[in-house]
Amino acid sequence: MNNSIDEFLAQCQLDTQAVRAGHHRTAEGEHSEPIFNTSSYVFDSAAAAAARFSGEQPGNVYSRYTNPTLKIFQDRLALMEGAEAAVATSSGMAAILSVCMALLQAGDHVVVSRSVFGTTSNLFSKVLKKFNVESTFVDLVDITAWQAAINSKTKMLFLETPSNPLCDVADMAALSALAKQHRCRLVVDNCFCTPALQKPLSLGADIIVHSATKYLDGQGRCMGGVVLGNQADMDEVLGFVRTAGPTMAPFNAWVFLKGLETLRLRMDAHCNNAQQVAEWLQQQELVEHVYYAGLESHPGHALAAKQQRGFGGVLSFKVKGRDDQGDRAAAWRFIDATRLVSLTANLGDAKTTIVHPATTTHGRLSDGERAQAGISENLIRLAVGLEDVIDLIDDMKRGIAAL
Ligand SMILES: *Cc1c(COP(=O)(O)O)cnc(C)c1O
Repeated sequence: MNNSIDEFLAQCQLDTQAVRAGHHRTAEGEHSEPIFNTSSYVFDSAAAAAARFSGEQPGNVYSRYTNPTLKIFQDRLALMEGAEAAVATSSGMAAILSVCMALLQAGDHVVVSRSVFGTTSNLFSKVLKKFNVESTFVDLVDITAWQAAINSKTKMLFLETPSNPLCDVADMAALSALAKQHRCRLVVDNCFCTPALQKPLSLGADIIVHSATKYLDGQGRCMGGVVLGNQADMDEVLGFVRTAGPTMAPFNAWVFLKGLETLRLRMDAHCNNAQQVAEWLQQQELVEHVYYAGLESHPGHALAAKQQRGFGGVLSFKVKGRDDQGDRAAAWRFIDATRLVSLTANLGDAKTTIVHPATTTHGRLSDGERAQAGISENLIRLAVGLEDVIDLIDDMKRGIAAL
């Protein structure tokens, strides 16, 4: 009976899967998915306990290993991403760490996009380095640089697309071909697009990671992460998670599960608002440049139009000050003059957020690294939320008036 429901939903469209997949009603007949807030599970007999512990009989033992609410969330997202299996983790960083700990070992080498999330970059350059996993950082859009960085020890290529905050777009099909040629895995952080806008596995990626904290939740309530891929790889990842312990809390899984139900609607609204704000900013004299792949002027526009269903909610722009106090002062004046948007580094929220990357998210980089990443002092990042775009543009006008 369960199998036939799963098979039926596997044939359905993404929106249907987002609302219904993964849930098998209990004997109570609940319509909404239940939260199993239990740390452990009871067995009918000593023999049943032994069979569960040995793995001879499938079923729950302890919530660091498996939990029914996590299972609903994992199965639902796996179907939406087109993955065989998923493993939920306590945060997005825990998801990335778990992939690395499960699938790499000392002596291995990784090629990483230079424009990944700052903490991801630290994980590779500082934490994994301590365990003798070396990383080479390359320009996201330069395929020849990826190719040149691969050596006989390379086991993984890691990227995010579109990039944060400049919206560079990676050619996933081309990088997947490169990964296959060199027998290494292509791992894609799909946090910015989610399966509502982009399906990396269908373009040849081997593994997807998510920070569920962002758009999957969509309302800034919970921390969480997910790893998705084939069954054999996910068995390894779950093996690490159940041993090391970065497990997702059942309540958080339930929040993300509910988030998936509105994901496509929200992502479409984020894209629409971001497109309108980007187009408006582009027309302003005191805005030097707007970075958003939805603009035809963006170098990644054609590729994004091909591999994404929408251009996402994050954009950035450079401002020009009217005085001679410098770029940083101008950007700060713009930010401080806004009233509606929230000054915070988070993104993927119903509430629009604004941040000055050079002195926050990218503040720990050296001047050279920052210049290489294209993070100038007059750059502002906006993660466009779900407020009415009229009010958002009014807020941008306040910023411009303060320049
Ligand atoms: C936030 C973020 C992460 C880290 O996720 P946490 O849930 O904060 O640990 C990883 N990748 C990207 C692209 C992010 O935006």
